[in-house]
Amino acid sequence: MAADPSLPESAPTATLRPSTVAVTAGRPAHQPDAPLNEPITMASTYVAGGDLEYGRYANPTWTALEDTLGALEGGRCLSFASGMAAVTTVLDLVGHGAKVVAPRHSYSGTVLQLADLEARGRLVAELVDITDTDAVVKACDDAALVWLESPTNPALEVADIETITAAAHEAGAYVVVDNTFATPLLQTPLAQGVDLVVHSATKYLAGHSDVLLGAVCTNDDELFSVIKGRRDLMGAVPGAFEAWLVLRGMRTLHLRVERAQANAQELVRRLPDHPAIAEVRYPGFGGIVSIVLAQGAIAADLLTRKTKLWVHATSLGGVESTFERRRRWKAEAPTIPDALVRLSVGIEDVEDLWDDLRTALDGCVG
Ligand SMILES: *Cc1c(COP(=O)(O)O)cnc(C)c1O
Repeated sequence: MAADPSLPESAPTATLRPSTVAVTAGRPAHQPDAPLNEPITMASTYVAGGDLEYGRYANPTWTALEDTLGALEGGRCLSFASGMAAVTTVLDLVGHGAKVVAPRHSYSGTVLQLADLEARGRLVAELVDITDTDAVVKACDDAALVWLESPTNPALEVADIETITAAAHEAGAYVVVDNTFATPLLQTPLAQGVDLVVHSATKYLAGHSDVLLGAVCTNDDELFSVIKGRRDLMGAVPGAFEAWLVLRGMRTLHLRVERAQANAQELVRRLPDHPAIAEVRYPGFGGIVSIVLAQGAIAADLLTRKTKLWVHATSLGGVESTFERRRRWKAEAPTIPDALVRLSVGIEDVEDLWDDLRTALDGCVG
């Protein structure tokens, strides 16, 4: 059964602003003794005769999360065990041998998945420079699926979503945006005509570096049913506790994103003046900043060992500031600078973040 996208009477989302939706959507109706929050429903099976039936098909805790994320993205939502489960399910939509266009600087897991599917003859992947709109539009021509990630990870390139979507639709291709970096608070691709939005909810949506979860959103009922059917059969469903944790995180998404972005913007003002820095990349919004160290990869590795507050760790979007040299991963694109360090700016006091980072950078000069 498809999840009911409508929200409790207590939350008429059509007229509400995103911060209010983040707090109020997906809650039980306001009735005496009802809990304010959707409880964690631990169930592998349900008494027959209703809409739920079995734990791989439906769970009320997923539904609460899906209603909330769906309302923020302006569509309906399906949750998955991880971001990659959502990515893989969407890539599986294309026919055998079909062409998928994707940014060469997509999340490395997405690029690896495309390469693996291509190696097994499942599809043909064409990796593009997402900032070269003319080239991307040309690549759309015989494509079945156009995958966009904007901003890209960790190059922080921005795609012209509307122009590319129009070209893809003209060619009969579906368009997907991985909206993990922007979150629905800074970018709502469905409103720009995109067919599907994918999330690694592991990052900003959950926001506390303690859970893995993925999601797909769409406002196309047919695509929704197909993806729901694929999820039922692939079985890459989230746990009820994981869904509950992500929903709990999403209640403060607007506050966290606002603070992380303000901190990131302040660091972006200060970083270019530091002699250890060769380049600062920032798309103008969000909490991710990439810096390139003037003294190369060794200096970048040194930086990640010299801080006290900033934690050297992969992943991003948590309340705590983390960073890593992306090319330490063999899977990272060779076109990403060797000395690039991706900063996931957290919600601490920016002066403490700057003091710690600047002191560490001082030790990476010449
Ligand atoms: C982390 C990430 C993914 C993968 O999500 P998981 O939850 O780790 O499986 C996909 N896309 C982007 C942009 C990511 O940052």
